[in-house]
Amino acid sequence: MKILSCDRDKNFPFAGARELSVSILMPLLAILFWLGVSITKDIFSALCYAFSYWFWTWAVISSGHQAVHKRLFVSPLVNRFYYRFVFLPFGIDADLWAERHNRAHHPRPNTQGYDLDLDDSTFIRLSPYSELRWYHRFQGFYAPILYSFAGPIVVLIQDPMQFLRVYRSKANELKPSVIRFFLNKLIWTFYWFFIPVFVFDFNLRWMLFGFWLGSALSFWSFIPIGASHLYNGTRYFLSRQDADSRQRQLDTTIDFGTSSRIVTLLYGGLNYHRAHHLYPKLASRYYSEITLQIDEIQYKEALGFWELFREHFRLLNALSTKTIQK
Ligand SMILES: [Zn+2]
Repeated sequence: MKILSCDRDKNFPFAGARELSVSILMPLLAILFWLGVSITKDIFSALCYAFSYWFWTWAVISSGHQAVHKRLFVSPLVNRFYYRFVFLPFGIDADLWAERHNRAHHPRPNTQGYDLDLDDSTFIRLSPYSELRWYHRFQGFYAPILYSFAGPIVVLIQDPMQFLRVYRSKANELKPSVIRFFLNKLIWTFYWFFIPVFVFDFNLRWMLFGFWLGSALSFWSFIPIGASHLYNGTRYFLSRQDADSRQRQLDTTIDFGTSSRIVTLLYGGLNYHRAHHLYPKLASRYYSEITLQIDEIQYKEALGFWELFREHFRLLNALSTKTIQK
């Protein structure tokens, strides 16, 4: 197959001019809007603050992720600098995320024991192999509320829990740095709270409103990426279960919003999620072309952007009871 030879070619092209422009534009807009908190200090500033959060989100989704795969810039060092930079406002360790993404998520999506987010059923049960708790039966109702408040939950609860789990783990994986962990949290606190309140004299109530709005917009923008594995009808695997790696990717992944140029641009081609999972080392601008070839192996109609949300919540409802096909 033609695309297989491209995957092996180390000189295969990187991101194009359009992707590079987005990678500069998004962080630039995020910083400009953040400076907007110093203007009126009322609802206008709160909206600027929220949009700053949202633009950082798009910088991570559209470009940071490609940098994690070393496909945004030619230099590996510049890629690393870029993703570390755009991850800073999220208060989490970019290197640990990159490690998890490349070594655990990509080779084995929806596989119990590999995907930390999938295994953790503290708040929401995302896998039929995870523990079922009594409150999960209501998860279809409370998930939208939780998603709207998930930004601070991820930074202040989930990230420290994962840090401790990896830190204590005896497995041969990248050990998290304690200094980097606290430095990330410190930068997060300074950027979102300390500087706006003490330097820009931003009204605390408007700041909290802006932060909530920004983190809610951010989390809901991330959902389609997770939902393209966690949709009604997806497959799950156990770590010991052997499966053809290509089939594993195809059975656990679905494309979304592929008819929209805006979705493709904002999601950095991640809406062609099957192409990304089969060929993560290819630059995203080739994904639409590759998808035509993937369809020859297994045709799977892409879901519409909003349709994907509906299928994700159908899955949450199915996982709220024991009776789900694995
Ligand atoms: Zn990826």
